[in-house]
Amino acid sequence: MGEMKAIVNFGNVPVGSRIIMDRLNTSARLMIVSDLDHTMVDHHDSENLSLLRFNALWEANYRHDSLLVFSTGRSPTLYKQLRKEKPMLTPDITIMSVGTEITYGNSMVPDDGWVEYLNQKWDKDIVREETSKFPEELTLQAETEQRAHKVSFYVKKDKAQAVTKALSEALEKRGLDVKIIYSGGIDLDILPQGAGKGQALAYLLKKFRTEGKLPVNTLVCGDSGNDAELFSIPEVHGVMVKNAQEELLQWHAENARDNPKIIHAKERCAAGIIEAIGYFHLGPNLSPRDVGDFLECKLENVNPGHEVVKFYLFYERWRRAEVAHSEVYIASLKANSLPSGVFVHPSGLEQQLTDRISALGSHYGDKQGQQFRVWVDRVLASEISSDAWLVKFNKWELSGEERQSCVTTAILSLKGSSISDGFTWVHVHQTWLERSEGKDESAWIV
Ligand SMILES: [Mg+2]
Repeated sequence: MGEMKAIVNFGNVPVGSRIIMDRLNTSARLMIVSDLDHTMVDHHDSENLSLLRFNALWEANYRHDSLLVFSTGRSPTLYKQLRKEKPMLTPDITIMSVGTEITYGNSMVPDDGWVEYLNQKWDKDIVREETSKFPEELTLQAETEQRAHKVSFYVKKDKAQAVTKALSEALEKRGLDVKIIYSGGIDLDILPQGAGKGQALAYLLKKFRTEGKLPVNTLVCGDSGNDAELFSIPEVHGVMVKNAQEELLQWHAENARDNPKIIHAKERCAAGIIEAIGYFHLGPNLSPRDVGDFLECKLENVNPGHEVVKFYLFYERWRRAEVAHSEVYIASLKANSLPSGVFVHPSGLEQQLTDRISALGSHYGDKQGQQFRVWVDRVLASEISSDAWLVKFNKWELSGEERQSCVTTAILSLKGSSISDGFTWVHVHQTWLERSEGKDESAWIV
């Protein structure tokens, strides 16, 4: 691990991390730090089922008191592209470009302290100048992959070793301290010595410790060589997903074989992450997507977030005809809606909540056999009285190739005297977040 001594003054925590620090009053119950490609995201699962299972588990049981961190080799450009292609949640913290960029929240506010730390013994201009002396061997990658603290090339396998050695010497002579990573038999990344997925996580943990908010448990998740650094951080639990590459398994065999806090999962990608949550007893590990019938759902994990996840999962199954075509369901939803409650459709149309539920009743099976998935992101509830919550979330709907989403605000109140009696939906208000132009707005049901 690189030394952290030069990290900037913690008394003056930058605005970005304040967004995260202030959301939780105490330590996060669980912090998941996950790689994306072939770990959180399974590129061989066109239905994205394990990712959707993880999403439902996270939003129903963890979002309110835990932290989700994505750590990827992707640049912001390629990361945003992946988010458009896959049903991914919004993480609290995003670590990109092989641990050279740390950003916070949905608006991705950069961590200035990390930038300052990486600036030591680093000068991108010098790196560009020295690398330009190898025009035969080095091919510059796309401009989007060139970042403030990462310069990336393509290099043929037979040239890699010699170029790496020559560059290290040249850059050291120029007073820089760099890390050169060759991966996948083609990519050559030059980073400051202090950068990397492991160092970025160590920096975050140190920051949380200084604030007195060290997560109760941290679980790191990865599949390939550049994730090994994550597993070398002391105190964290780790899962190498089933489909982990040989290079990571070999690193584990040589360096961490006796560490009981690291497992090689039996399941692929996000399913392996859920498996690890259960194996290490880090909290609930039953995804609402694995619960067949919500009318029989146990009421142990009841909270407003769980209620929202449960409702939209039912909605998906109703339209896919994956639950029985029974009026009992619609009657139960109506019984859970305030008779005078209002639903504001993103088009602006206002309707009684119960009328909207009746409308949903007539859409049974209209997406049967089609690509149709629904998920919710950023589900956050705030208590507005002793028995009511204002719940805000983004609801996403994938239908065929089209993805649409709404910012949704709902008021839920307690149905009885205790939380285990469940909730009454009092009010729902939706506003378009992302919508395909020219699409019929009435196709959006709830
Ligand atoms: Mg990966």
